[in-house]
Amino acid sequence: MRKLFPLFLCIFLLTGCQPQAYSSQTFAMDTLMQFTIYGRNGQEALAHASARIQALEQLFSVTRTQSETYAVNHAQGEWTAVSEELYELAARTLDLCRETGGALDLTAYPAVRAWGFTTGEYQVPDGETLKELAACIDYSRVELEENRIRLPDGMELDFGATAKGYAGEVLARELREMGVECAILSLGGNVQTIGSRPTGDPWRVGVQDPEGEDYLLVLSVVDQAVVTSGGYQRFFEENGLRYWHIMDPDTAAPARSGLSSVTIVGDSGTLCDGLSTALFVMGREEAAAYWRAHPEFEAVLVSEDGSIAVTEGLEDRFVLNTGYEDRDVEVIRR
Ligand code: AMP
Ligand code: MG
Repeated sequence: MRKLFPLFLCIFLLTGCQPQAYSSQTFAMDTLMQFTIYGRNGQEALAHASARIQALEQLFSVTRTQSETYAVNHAQGEWTAVSEELYELAARTLDLCRETGGALDLTAYPAVRAWGFTTGEYQVPDGETLKELAACIDYSRVELEENRIRLPDGMELDFGATAKGYAGEVLARELREMGVECAILSLGGNVQTIGSRPTGDPWRVGVQDPEGEDYLLVLSVVDQAVVTSGGYQRFFEENGLRYWHIMDPDTAAPARSGLSSVTIVGDSGTLCDGLSTALFVMGREEAAAYWRAHPEFEAVLVSEDGSIAVTEGLEDRFVLNTGYEDRDVEVIRR
């Protein structure tokens, strides 16, 4: 027993002191990303994370002419061989398109482009153009087989709704394999956590007020992803109306479901990212019904009138921010 004492002391000293934090910022996937990794191999893990995110963007980018996605989109109806990673992202996104009944649709790209969201040259397409665009959005026409992808000529894929969540999930897996036990990765509206904070407490992740600069509420999260989609994240205004980057596949126009943001919390970054977009398109009631039928995530739904709804699993995992304490929060139950 006496021999064990120094060992106990050692462990206490190691766990009692805070591990060093390593942080870096990188611009990728059209957004500013910030990675903070704690512990001895933090520096090495940071370098890995930055290099990996650039490599993934090179596969997934819809605008880079050298990307695999670009090759698939310009194959004029022929098969294109793709990497395992693009194949996996495409297969998982397609599953979510089916599961959400097409609220998520990875073929929405021509509509996103027509509104100017890829170039910043914003415009409101006319009704006839929108009808033609909507007729070409159809995930069921995408074929996947043995690491190759084929789509009808004229259709184009876009992984804007799932790529960042997938990237966060890949990074978390690889960093854990490198021995990282404590990290927070912020990829635009996507936050991926590894473990808890160095203090042992859960990470605190803010959900932004869609109408302001501040956080509406703060979520407690351990080892999970938190992903937000909102009309406030990318938009333009014309004649007093606001148009945002999340499309309703049925109309090829910005989805107006009455929600102003959707935040999804879950173990899989890809699922969270896909569902944040899909539930935004669905609206409050359909989103609640979808959650009741799918146990693998929790959600915060903020409506345009400012009301907040959280699913049951988050009931004890959030606090309203200072200044928002008097907001009513409805709990959605199974
Ligand atoms: P997110 O920010 O994750 O909600 O994803 C929005 C991005 O996904 C947009 O910038 C488009 O590139 C793409 N997108 C827009 N609407 C849809 C949709 N209904 N289904 C799939 N992707 C979409
Ligand atoms: Mg998304």
